[in-house]
Amino acid sequence: MDQAMIDRLAAAPVAAGKLLIGGEWVKGAGETPVLSPIDGKQLTTIAAASADDVARACASGRAAFEDGRWSRMAPAARKAVLHRLADLIEKHATELAVLGVRDNGTEISMALKAEPGSAAGTFRYYAEAIDKVYGEVAPTASNVLGLIHREPVGVVGAIVPWNFPLMIGAWKIAPALATGNSVVLKPAETASLSLLRLAALALEAGVPPGVFNVVTGPGRVTGEALALSNDVDVLVFTGSGATGRRLLQYSAQSNLKRCYLELGGKSPNVVFADAPDLSAAAKAAATAIFRNAGQVCVAGSRLLVEALVHDAFVDELATATRKMAVGNPLKLDTQVGAVNSLTQLEGNLGFVADATREGGEIVTGGSRALEETGGYYMDPTIVTGVRPEHRLYREEVFGPVLAVTPFADEAEALRLANASDFGLAAGVWTANLSRAHRMVRGIRSGVVHVNTYGGADVTVPLSGVKQSGNGADKSLHALEKYTDLKTAWIQL
Ligand code: NAD
Repeated sequence: MDQAMIDRLAAAPVAAGKLLIGGEWVKGAGETPVLSPIDGKQLTTIAAASADDVARACASGRAAFEDGRWSRMAPAARKAVLHRLADLIEKHATELAVLGVRDNGTEISMALKAEPGSAAGTFRYYAEAIDKVYGEVAPTASNVLGLIHREPVGVVGAIVPWNFPLMIGAWKIAPALATGNSVVLKPAETASLSLLRLAALALEAGVPPGVFNVVTGPGRVTGEALALSNDVDVLVFTGSGATGRRLLQYSAQSNLKRCYLELGGKSPNVVFADAPDLSAAAKAAATAIFRNAGQVCVAGSRLLVEALVHDAFVDELATATRKMAVGNPLKLDTQVGAVNSLTQLEGNLGFVADATREGGEIVTGGSRALEETGGYYMDPTIVTGVRPEHRLYREEVFGPVLAVTPFADEAEALRLANASDFGLAAGVWTANLSRAHRMVRGIRSGVVHVNTYGGADVTVPLSGVKQSGNGADKSLHALEKYTDLKTAWIQL
């Protein structure tokens, strides 16, 4: 990828965002300024959808679903449309990635792979699944035929966060559309631009009007209206636990819509002294927490290190961390981009202040960086001596702050790993195969990485346990969220 092309795309003005309702781009009741985390300046505005705007979007999704323009289209025809969308995402990949970085701040080298690259692959995966997933015939008595149909649920409301808008958006939109549903998408206020562009590409690919609607705006207005809508049959969400709790209440206050919540994490990355390559583990531990400035749901944010190698390991980790280039996320050599917003940055610094008050020791980082740019940057921060009762051990920062804790043996490692309300991801570094399997079985989380951290693809589910949520994104398992089972019981 060529820096000049990125710079050219990044210099283009960004038009004010509109809402997509019934296949038309329309103004919302209000508008919200979009600040760039790169320099703190206003980049553009997005529409702020009111409850009435959201009601119109949901009604258009409902009408499209009922008349069958998409829900009853032949699977092979739907598949062709979603493949065309994947083609268009690939064709516009750099443009999509740059646009996304301008409002969310992810380093471009990562955004190129994790955003359009991943989204196109996700649309292809579910496009291919459409005509390969069959219903079932039940093993009934011979005078009866029991058929189990999988039917689309109707209108899917999707509310997504700002850290990987295209990737996470595609994890919801692709399986929902593939199974014949209509979608009303609500992007995060600080990461709407690339998803609005994706919606334009969806229309161009031939997704019929009304099938895919986008409402932007504040969570407490636009998101709340979507979650309270009686026209939404299933709500899929990725974001914080606090918002997840509210969504369950909105469901109870409205039509008892099913809610699937992909929430936060405080994932343990456990390093044993017998790891096959401790240097590789130290470098991986740094990227596991610091890529995308720590704004990764599966970030390895609690590093547990066997006491025998703790000090040497932390030294190597700190050296690798100090070498990471923090800066303008639109530069190809940047390794740690911007924090998404000033509020988020201030929250990160608050965690560091509390950690030192509670007895943690800052090994490197701990401060705001590059303040003169006006952007929101933070030095990657390592805090040692963090105990399970400390705030930094218990709460998700969602920023570039790593908590380090030593352990004496495998039993203590497992106990510390599970000492969390969350259960999203984990890492284990050991050359001992039996220990690796014991840890995989023992750790309560949706994924356990062994001798690596991160990097799962669309073929495997991402699914939290405990307060990290429920329901799987990715893989064929995700289709279950977007379909209802219907039995036909036929007397022969
Ligand atoms: P957030 O909960 O603040 O916002 C997420 C979305 O919810 C946004 O679109 C927001 O506008 C909307 N929202 C906020 N309040 C709402 C309300 N009252 N009603 C309806 N919608 C509302 O989360 P965030 O700060 O954007 O994202 C970070 C969080 O997401 C972290 O906790 C992170 O771990 C989590 N996350 C989880 C996964 C996963 O797969 N488990 C992936 C990425 C991020």
